[in-house]
Amino acid sequence: SYSGPSGDHVLAKRREYLSPSIMHFYKSPLNIVEGKKQYLFDENGRRYVDAFGGIATVCCGHCHPDVVSAIVDQTKKLQHSTVLYLNHAVADFAEALAGKLPGDLKVAFFTNSGTEANELAMMIARLYTGCHDIISIRNSYHGNAGGTMGATAQSIWKFNVVQSGVHHAVNPDPYRGLFGSDGAKYARDVQEIINFGTSGNVAAFISEAIQGVGGIVELAPGYLPAAYDSVKKAGGLCIADEVQSGFARTGSHFWGFESHGVQPDIVTMAKGIGNGIPLGAVVTTPEIAKVLTQSSYFNTFGGNPVCTAAGLAVLKVIEKEKLQENAFIVGSHLKERLNVLKDKYELIGDVRGKGLMLGVELVTDRELKTPAKVETLHVMDQMKELGVLIGKGGYYGNVFRITPPLCFSKEDADFVVDAMDYTLSRM
Ligand code: PMP
Repeated sequence: SYSGPSGDHVLAKRREYLSPSIMHFYKSPLNIVEGKKQYLFDENGRRYVDAFGGIATVCCGHCHPDVVSAIVDQTKKLQHSTVLYLNHAVADFAEALAGKLPGDLKVAFFTNSGTEANELAMMIARLYTGCHDIISIRNSYHGNAGGTMGATAQSIWKFNVVQSGVHHAVNPDPYRGLFGSDGAKYARDVQEIINFGTSGNVAAFISEAIQGVGGIVELAPGYLPAAYDSVKKAGGLCIADEVQSGFARTGSHFWGFESHGVQPDIVTMAKGIGNGIPLGAVVTTPEIAKVLTQSSYFNTFGGNPVCTAAGLAVLKVIEKEKLQENAFIVGSHLKERLNVLKDKYELIGDVRGKGLMLGVELVTDRELKTPAKVETLHVMDQMKELGVLIGKGGYYGNVFRITPPLCFSKEDADFVVDAMDYTLSRM
């Protein structure tokens, strides 16, 4: 049992010593002291089903013993910077990762976060093409450093600092978008940005396969292949941001882009890759990767032995425990049940997503699609009281994000839906 500081104590310290920008969802924030598989435990030993942890960190479940052993064993042997000496951990993981990617995508550069991975991917594209212009999609999230904040396209995640060279394409959002589910019409906007907003050549196009922070938005069918086509014709590279949709989460495929039938030039990843250990990666072709030899490029801890040992363990666990298949089976079941709730409650405007990357959008008026922001927070808070943690996202803050660890069971899924049902029935 837990004998550490209480939540109140931690909160007081946090208020005094941590940046005031740090946020928490709940009216009375949780003091989480332990995690096991898809469950979290608070200071009183109360168990919560963690239906959001998957996105934050964990794809194999909290504190998976294989990943923990890999981390502990490697820590006892050696932790150091990656690049100065030979060490098998980074090379073994790079090889295993390459084995998961299609085509000639087989050269990795490791980072400590998704932001860093996307910063690097965008720079590589600019160096390779000699162009500066990058196209990203409105409502996307790609990071919060200089370049990636430019690519991120939601005002709520931007500060008023210089963000040069990124054009934001119309969001191919089947629920709220201008052209419904007509992917080709949205893709025409990418072509028009190239025609009217650039010299005719671009460095890159960057996109998530399913927008995560933006509220689990699936891109309209046919959009990505058409957009990739325009970008490739304009000499640009296509970057797939798999920070949220990668590592088997979408169930049908290992990578989110695969279900769109496209072949990116660069793939970026983070979050689930290390099951909670800070790790990110940029994977590209040997030819494109060569541009980084034009100068010196160094990242002290990117791909260090401990983090890459964790990464390799994660890939093995996904395989051994058939987590992709589980994401597909449990995710399909969960989505089916959420759709039943949608028929029952007017407040649910949309249910969407794939595998264990699902979204539920709340609206107070189905015709006008008026965001039910207050209700969203209320339901989240009530579900927490019932022992279920879910996430929230979308520009209007009215979309539940259900992105659990991939070891989530059907029983967990039922518990999530039952808790949501009960909460909605009492509003
Ligand atoms: N890309 C996507 C799709 C993300 O969701 C995030 C994080 N929310 C990032 C990039 C940035 O990752 P990090 O927070 O590790 O910098």
